[in-house]
Amino acid sequence: MASRDRRAISFEFFPPRGEEGREKLMEVAKKLQQCQPEYVSVTFGAGGSTQQGTLETVLDLMRSGFAVAPHLSCIGSTRSSITALLDQYRQAGVQRIVALRGDMPSGMRDAGDLHYANELVAFIRQHSGDYFHIEVAAYPEFHPQATSATADLDNFARKVAAGANSAITQYFYNVDAYSRFIEAIAARGVTLPVIPGVMPITNLTNLARFSAMCGAEIPRWLRLRLEAFGGDAEGLREFGLEVTAKLCQQLLQAGAPGLHFYTMNQSAATLRLWQSL
Ligand code: FAD
Repeated sequence: MASRDRRAISFEFFPPRGEEGREKLMEVAKKLQQCQPEYVSVTFGAGGSTQQGTLETVLDLMRSGFAVAPHLSCIGSTRSSITALLDQYRQAGVQRIVALRGDMPSGMRDAGDLHYANELVAFIRQHSGDYFHIEVAAYPEFHPQATSATADLDNFARKVAAGANSAITQYFYNVDAYSRFIEAIAARGVTLPVIPGVMPITNLTNLARFSAMCGAEIPRWLRLRLEAFGGDAEGLREFGLEVTAKLCQQLLQAGAPGLHFYTMNQSAATLRLWQSL
């Protein structure tokens, strides 16, 4: 991005498994450091074993010089466990949190003390005041469990009213969905920065699996073009990154305040996209 028009970019990682994964992630992060991200974020597994991994990864990345935003989900957690984490993060110098409801892991019965992200945002504000910059999730194509588009927009406005500072979207491949979302929240008086989440297209099987889970649409034309590559993984990747680069450009032209890249703990695709901007 040209320096006169520098919009914030950020990268998302997940906690790696084992020592080898940890070393590999640090190499990936080092390569991405040249992009000067505003911050990097680390995902969090609701009620699961990755919670300790999130904290360790956050600390590793902070030691490497990044500003880091841990994701924090409330489903299945108690107020006291959330308080303990918030205090740990604050003590470590974390200044930004991505606050989420999360999803109940299969087999877990107790939904915990806080049931929706707006309750978590309110709880963080109650516990830590204005200390943290709070990001929340936004769904331009709507959350898969939302009873209607209107109900989902109302929920988003509730999260903002509870004290969110900015939002990161679920990934999508339809610029209009983003622009319409911004218009719809503005009509509700909500004007905070909403940063598009960008999933680089490099592999159709994985993309189709994630998209089915999170409700992100792969447009028909795109799915058919990707399917046509068959076993030509390299051809698919080239085409997929070209499509994703165009999406990024269109989003910035449409006024997006920045881009948040779902790196999948890989550097090559994200670096390519960054260079294309
Ligand atoms: P909410 O905003 O609480 O919304 C969840 C659903 O409930 C929506 O359908 C909403 O319309 C509805 N709703 C909200 N409030 C009410 C209410 N009062 N009454 C009735 N319905 C209501 N998941 C993880 O487990 N770990 C992560 O690290 C993680 N990171 C993410 C990062 C981003 C940028 C995004 C977009 C998603 C991430 N997720 C993560 C996935 C997220 O946890 C799921 O999409 C989850 O299902 C919803 O979380 P939320 O914070 O959007 O929930």
